[in-house]
Amino acid sequence: MQTPVFEDLHWLLDVLQSTDIGILVLDRQYNVEMFNRFMQVHSGISGMDAVDRTIFELFPYLTDEWFTRRVNSVFDLGVPVYTTYQERDAVFDFPLKLPIHHETGSMYQNSTFVPLRSPTDIVEKVAIVIYDVTSTAVNSKKLEQAKEQLLYLSRTDKLTGLSNRGYWQECLEQEYHRNLRSEEPVTLVMLDIDHFKNVNDNYGHAVGDQAICQVSSTLLELSRTVDVCGRYGGEEFCVILPNTNIDGAMVFCERLRKAIEKLELNIDGQQLSFTISLGVAMLDNTVNSAHQWLVCADKALYASKEGGRNKTSVYQ
Ligand code: GH3
Ligand code: MG
Ligand code: MG
Repeated sequence: MQTPVFEDLHWLLDVLQSTDIGILVLDRQYNVEMFNRFMQVHSGISGMDAVDRTIFELFPYLTDEWFTRRVNSVFDLGVPVYTTYQERDAVFDFPLKLPIHHETGSMYQNSTFVPLRSPTDIVEKVAIVIYDVTSTAVNSKKLEQAKEQLLYLSRTDKLTGLSNRGYWQECLEQEYHRNLRSEEPVTLVMLDIDHFKNVNDNYGHAVGDQAICQVSSTLLELSRTVDVCGRYGGEEFCVILPNTNIDGAMVFCERLRKAIEKLELNIDGQQLSFTISLGVAMLDNTVNSAHQWLVCADKALYASKEGGRNKTSVYQ
């Protein structure tokens, strides 16, 4: 007849086998000593095939340093190690069984590496406990994506894809404050389409929108990645040119002005051309705020309009 202790062990093993958590026990040589049902179901490897083989034979990708460093540290230090899916998606690459998670192909896992001691207090084995956290991970990733998308939408002008006025103004503030601590020149450009009301009146609002998009794409084409381009209002655009003095800004503005002048929009066989006016203001120590800097560029733009349009003026 079995002793009560043996009976206890028997049902304890049953619990370990049937739990919805992965349990795997390794000895010092990385031989598998226990491989519960969860591990069998998700890996497709039977308990008989797993036990007494090294974990590297079963899962060759675990030879990486990430895994062995953790197991070794549990053997050497005798304290548990916890890992989460944020650090590494999973310890074991298990395909998902449930169709509700069709967004992702494999299981996300948290895990605990637990030291198992002999009666003489020596760490003889390590148990690796695996928790399936796919639902949590998928939801949290979706939330992250939604947050990113919201942030993008809150910063972007829908028609042109440029920074919208609010976000561009934030960038202007940042650039202004960054420049207080730097010697680098930085220049601001404001530009506005000339007689744009005529475009809308003669060709309609949709064509007007096309013209706005043309200016935006030409602006992006001719600017550097460090330049911060925004749509300030209806047909008004603004650009921060870091590390650029007045001479550099003039070259940029004139190139842009001439490129727009040359553009021809084809509307039902009719050619439409238009021009832009620009104003330039370099940041110097007479400018007391980002707002004042913007006012300077706007005054220069106004001078271009007053001076006959289709030109660039520098704030004096
Ligand atoms: P100026 O040379 O002095 O700039 O003359 P303008 O006709 O361009 O004058 P103004 O800047 O006052 O006119 C801007 C016009 O832009 C008025 C408005 O109807 C139009 N507008 C503003 N936003 C949009 C838009 O998103 N799409 C279109 N199609 N038109 C817009
Ligand atoms: Mg205009
Ligand atoms: Mg305008």
